[in-house]
Amino acid sequence: MREDSIDAIVRRIGPSARITVLTGAGVSAASGVPTFRGKDGLWKSYTAERLATPEAFASDPRLVWEWYDWRRTLISRCRPNGAHRILALWGRRYEGFRLITQNVDGLDEKAGSDSVIRFHGSIWEVSCRDGCAKSPKRWVLDEVPLGHIPPSCPWCGGLVRPGVVWFGEGIDPEVLHRAEAALECDLFLTVGTSALVYPAAGLVDAARGRGAFTVEINREATPASGRVDLAVQGGAEEVLGLLERRLGGCAGG
Ligand code: NAD
Ligand code: ZN
Repeated sequence: MREDSIDAIVRRIGPSARITVLTGAGVSAASGVPTFRGKDGLWKSYTAERLATPEAFASDPRLVWEWYDWRRTLISRCRPNGAHRILALWGRRYEGFRLITQNVDGLDEKAGSDSVIRFHGSIWEVSCRDGCAKSPKRWVLDEVPLGHIPPSCPWCGGLVRPGVVWFGEGIDPEVLHRAEAALECDLFLTVGTSALVYPAAGLVDAARGRGAFTVEINREATPASGRVDLAVQGGAEEVLGLLERRLGGCAGG
């Protein structure tokens, strides 16, 4: 059964295939980055949904920054896994390959991917909370752990915020535009995402609507499982590894 699924995907991957991959927290799970959903997602009994919001930041910026500092420190010790490496390899091998990630951890870049469409921003970037005139739109702040919590804007002395998209916030229009362009593809893989967070969760349906063959790879069934052409159950690192071996490569591991 799984062999048939792998065959069905491999048949659609030729040198000129346009492949778009959407990834979620499950792709970084094998690297040791906790997902949001599930018991590992908890931090001091707070759920991500209660911390990753503009409201939480407005009412307690210190608490929210302590959580980000904990996540940043944890992620700084994590290395890309086979799934990140295979996606980076496909980016070099297939001209029509595009990677959209909901992850904010930067492990795709560490694995060698470039031009990643960072749907939800980066945990390594920050911006001035008030968008003061002198500050850039975003800048890198990769000190771990942070010397001072909450960190302040070097230009105006006010608060800075993490460069991520919080629940209830909109997607950067330029990023949305790039993601929409990537929906024009032959094969769309949605990998390691719970398919609950919109608008990201709607991308697979939009790609299917435009004629792409859609595949989900996840350890568990999700709300998207019944809407894709093919749902493959398994770990991202394992299933992408099987695909890459069938494609004749030797990356991953
Ligand atoms: P999620 O936590 O809601 O869901 C994780 C999904 O991954 C689940 O469906 C689970 O079954 C699956 N999964 C777990 N281990 C897997 C594996 N080894 N292989 C394949 N699938 C596996 O994550 P989400 O869907 O990405 O959405 C939540 C939001 O959380 C996103 O906006 C993202 O920005 C943020 N987030 C990012 C990170 C990160 O950067 N690594 C981590 C946690 C959450
Ligand atoms: Zn400022």
